Amino acid sequence: MNEIERPLLLNPGPVTLSRRVRDSLLQPDLCHREPEFFALQDEIRRRLLEVYDLDASRWAAVLLSGSGTAAVEAMLSSLVPTAGRLLVIENGVYGERIHRIARIYGIACEALAHAWGDAIDLEAVVARLQDSALPRITHVAAVHHETTTGRLNRLDALSALCAQHDVALLVDGVSSFGAEAIDFHHAGRGGIAALAATANKCLHGVPGACFVVARRDALAAARPRNLYLDLASWCKAQDAQGTPFTPAVHAYYALREALREFADAGGRAARYSQYRMLADQVGDGLLRMGIVPLLPREQSSVVLRAYQLPQNLGYARLHDVLKACGFVIYAGQGQLAADIFRISTMGAVTAENMARLVAEIARLMAGEQGRP
Ligand SMILES: *Cc1c(COP(=O)(O)O)cnc(C)c1O
Repeated sequence: MNEIERPLLLNPGPVTLSRRVRDSLLQPDLCHREPEFFALQDEIRRRLLEVYDLDASRWAAVLLSGSGTAAVEAMLSSLVPTAGRLLVIENGVYGERIHRIARIYGIACEALAHAWGDAIDLEAVVARLQDSALPRITHVAAVHHETTTGRLNRLDALSALCAQHDVALLVDGVSSFGAEAIDFHHAGRGGIAALAATANKCLHGVPGACFVVARRDALAAARPRNLYLDLASWCKAQDAQGTPFTPAVHAYYALREALREFADAGGRAARYSQYRMLADQVGDGLLRMGIVPLLPREQSSVVLRAYQLPQNLGYARLHDVLKACGFVIYAGQGQLAADIFRISTMGAVTAENMARLVAEIARLMAGEQGRP
């Protein structure tokens, strides 16, 4: 069905669009100061909360225009107060990026660094939160799905820990929102205060729209460190059917349609099952050829998985051969570039597509065996 929309994107966003979402881009030109725009914005904000059944009196979805990093930066710069102190948990590129953003803003912060791919050491987190000889931590920031390696960090355990220690948790959920389970409901203080995400990963929209889902009490206490990414002012304007600046109107059209399609298909749990089926299909197929995953399946997301490059098959050749067959896969970053490749099963891709992908890789592997 999507064969004409080659190539299929198996990189971690932007994703292969469904026809329905692609067609939604071709709607009337829209002024962002007209009621039609506010109806669009309201529907998106409502549907974003519905993805995880969040109560609109306690939570707000604040829409921004930009890529996922804009949402992460808006969350950090707006929600860690001047008197606060941030503990950043790093186990990949995106955790390290959070730390970099915090330092650029001069936020009092420190990192709990792990090797890329390692599981978060929850005991070390507790030890730091309880260490009264050091300045008190008010906020923890962590990545849910660390796309660098495909590791799904244990967000629920971390969130429970933060709740116990009366610490606010700020989450980069850019590559998990819409697919993986997220427990926002640690009632009372602590737990998840906000989560940043984007339109063009698990929600299947186009790049250009991103958002932060934040607790309203956290937004009420926010103080701006910049003008454009000040979450509280965006939220206030959007609550009053307004917008402070020109939004990415067409990306909003696509996000609304993607959210409608998402709900029609059965919502978050259905998307999880779909991704899981496709990711397992690819993983099983690769394993039959001796290509092993970087991490055990139960520690990986369903959104993206990383695999060890086989001996005598470099990434460039694997990538180029697959691209010629209509598939765009993704390289490892930094220190992992020579060792791994990544395949995401987000977007409008099917089991038939994945069967063909596996067959093409098998064909390549069989051919490589005969090469010197
Ligand atoms: C994709 C991604 C981002 C944001 O990247 P952008 O290029 O700014 O969209 C942030 N965090 C994680 C975990 C991601 O996978």
